[in-house]
Amino acid sequence: MLHPNPKGAAVQKIDPLTDFSEITATAAISSARHGWRAKCLQRLVRIDLPVPRTVALPAATVRAIAAGQPVDCAAILRHFGPDPLISVRPSPENPDWGGPATILNIGFNAARHDRLAQTHGQAAADALYLRFVQGYALHVARLDPDMFEGLEPSAEALRRALQAYATEMEEPFPEDPARQLSDVLRSMARAWEGTTARLLRQAKGAPEAAGLGLVVQEMAQGIGAGLSGSGVIQFVDPASGVPQVTGRYLGQSQGRDALRQPEAIYLTRDPRGASLQDLAPEIYADLLRFGATCRKNLREEMQVEFTIEDGHMSVLDAVKVVRSARAGLRIAVALAEDGVISRNDAVLRVEPRALSELLHPQVDPRGARDVFAKGIGASPGAATGKIVFTSAAAQASASRGEPCILVRRETAPEDIRGMHSAAGVLTERGGMTSHAAVIGRGLGLPCIVGASDLRLDAREKTLIAADGRCLREGDLITVDGTTGEALVGAATMLPPALDDSFRKLLSWADAVRDIGIRANADTPADAQTARNFEAQGIGLCRTEHMFFDEDRLVVMREMIFADTAQDRAAALARLLPMQRADFVQLFDIMQGLPVCIRLFDPPLHEFLPHSREGLRELAEALDKPLSDVTRRAEALAEFNPMLGMRGVRLGIVLPEIYAMQAQAIFEATVEIAHRGSAPVVPEIMIPLVSAKREVELVKSNIDAVAASVRAKSGVTFDFRLGVMVETPRAALRAGEIAQHAAFLSFGTNDLTQMTYGLSRDDAGRFMNTYVQQGVFAEDPFHSLDVDGVGELLLIGAERGRATRADLTLSICGEHGGNPESIDFCRRAGFDYVSCSPYRVPQARLAAAHLAL
Ligand code: PEP
Ligand code: MG
Repeated sequence: MLHPNPKGAAVQKIDPLTDFSEITATAAISSARHGWRAKCLQRLVRIDLPVPRTVALPAATVRAIAAGQPVDCAAILRHFGPDPLISVRPSPENPDWGGPATILNIGFNAARHDRLAQTHGQAAADALYLRFVQGYALHVARLDPDMFEGLEPSAEALRRALQAYATEMEEPFPEDPARQLSDVLRSMARAWEGTTARLLRQAKGAPEAAGLGLVVQEMAQGIGAGLSGSGVIQFVDPASGVPQVTGRYLGQSQGRDALRQPEAIYLTRDPRGASLQDLAPEIYADLLRFGATCRKNLREEMQVEFTIEDGHMSVLDAVKVVRSARAGLRIAVALAEDGVISRNDAVLRVEPRALSELLHPQVDPRGARDVFAKGIGASPGAATGKIVFTSAAAQASASRGEPCILVRRETAPEDIRGMHSAAGVLTERGGMTSHAAVIGRGLGLPCIVGASDLRLDAREKTLIAADGRCLREGDLITVDGTTGEALVGAATMLPPALDDSFRKLLSWADAVRDIGIRANADTPADAQTARNFEAQGIGLCRTEHMFFDEDRLVVMREMIFADTAQDRAAALARLLPMQRADFVQLFDIMQGLPVCIRLFDPPLHEFLPHSREGLRELAEALDKPLSDVTRRAEALAEFNPMLGMRGVRLGIVLPEIYAMQAQAIFEATVEIAHRGSAPVVPEIMIPLVSAKREVELVKSNIDAVAASVRAKSGVTFDFRLGVMVETPRAALRAGEIAQHAAFLSFGTNDLTQMTYGLSRDDAGRFMNTYVQQGVFAEDPFHSLDVDGVGELLLIGAERGRATRADLTLSICGEHGGNPESIDFCRRAGFDYVSCSPYRVPQARLAAAHLAL
């Protein structure tokens, strides 16, 4: 019947119950209607692979079947000639969305069993019939698995299975192929609608309305007198992506048996045993040819499922090789280099987040995992080491050359050396921007934070897991910072993969992206990592991290404890050459690239010891009475240090600190100029600004230092002064602040903390509950809050640029490396994002994805 469509043209109304088509080269098959498998089979048909006759049922038909409408099974069966033997496989639009189990050998019944016994022998006939009855009983009739699973094929097992079916269902096993097919289709259609299946596929990104196509295919039996069997072949190693034939073949078998049965043989000639290449060289050669054709025409590395029946091969199916991140990257680059896909396609085929897996050793997903704790995977990669509970123990362990995992309730700045010495970090508390997380990512150190199920007893030196297991200092554990799981013992690892393919893909990404990527780097080692990952400069150098090394910490503490301006000046004078040397090194490593140095930010008391023992040692080192030192430490304590005397406030109250830092920066600039290296234009950034006057005061201080260094050295140099926007007020007043700033860099860690009024160090305690209950869609310290914090970014950017059209805009909080944040910044017209060095590759790739 014809119905007019809204535009008036006549269209054929389709009856879903007769809407199925045989897959031919020209049939109208689409993955949107019939699913990826149907579409893939059509592609195989088009490239002349020997695919058995196949009929595709579109999702609309399958949905009608699930709703209880009868499909014309006799009409489907007519496609396969008289007395057909068929299989039904799921075909969702996306292979990742799963689907019900394949059912083989539909059409098997007593008559076929008898005939097969005569042609192929009793044992083969019994085995196939039993297999069908088992599959049917479990997946179609949904009978108790205990009655049908694990039966060894035999005439007796077949008899018992048929008997059990008849007893449970109160009817004999169905003999009519049309009835069998109808039951199979209905059960598969309904399985797709089940709650578990729906939740599973939605977790993989399937939309609510995702449908299921089905493909009905003529069976290639895989059993018979001549060479018969089935196998699976792939042409790359799924772990590394290196070209290599892998797979298995099993004589007298069907489906994917060869992957399950230990007696299956290799495909390629192999010293470990027999191979298909020896057994049937022509068939092996055909398989290689099929693989090459698939690669070229399907533009993908495929795994091919084949069956041989009496020497004739059929290709039943081909699926994209399931691959590790490193293999995915290598395959994409190889396909582009061979001209099969474009470079841009290769760039788009690699998920940016997958790159972090390549930068660090990873736990081999094929190995055993004995998980004892779960937290937030705060810094990716995996490391194995012995448990230590203090930074001192970590350093001692490193000096013995023994890898260790530093386990702390949470880390503090004084743990920095311990973290440098550890192979990985595990903390009971903290979230994505806690100290351990930020430093872990900066150092490229695998790190789990917020493993709140653990009970840590630092005094007893024990770690009690939620399941009651007790781990002690010295026990070997593995930290998987990618998944957030801590494992007992040494897990099997995959090494990092910074190979040629990696570099090539990122250079292709750089050619298309349109936003800059810099790195947050505090030390020469960080800067070197940033350079290795081809960051376009340093977007944030947190100078305070330079003061935690043993020799500097002492001088720093002397500076803090100075009683007079003179004593303070003396301590700063000792810090000056150390800072200058730091900057010379940074400028040297980053030659020709911009380096943005943030002036001192944290409250001073962070540099003081927290334990009584530490205070005693400090009193000794400073040659002061313990009571003095304790009193001074107490005086520096603040109720709310993150909102207290830190950042620019400290710079205004104690201007000598910023003056020393500026002098060190400028003298380093002069030294680089003397060396004749590429000139440096340092960028100096003022943290935690909330008022224009703060910027004016710091600016005049720094301008005076610059003038003095220029006068003393006789070298002219430029520098750029900018403001870090970390308070809501700075964002709101960006218009006037920009009068004195060449750039604004949004520090979204503090800006998030201050916008929400949510402590970045304590949020971990309730973040899970908040996310689970939908208060926050995601942890705003992890994923930029586009609605709130994002609005402040937009306001700041707009007001700043209204004052100064050439104002450089960037973001340098931990969000900087997130693909979603990069998208936001790019659309807001930012010049660059800056993130931890180890996230630079991911950011480069994500930016390219956004530009393509
Ligand atoms: C920020 O606040 O976003 C920032 C980058 O500074 P820090 O993390 O050092 O406070
Ligand atoms: Mg900050």
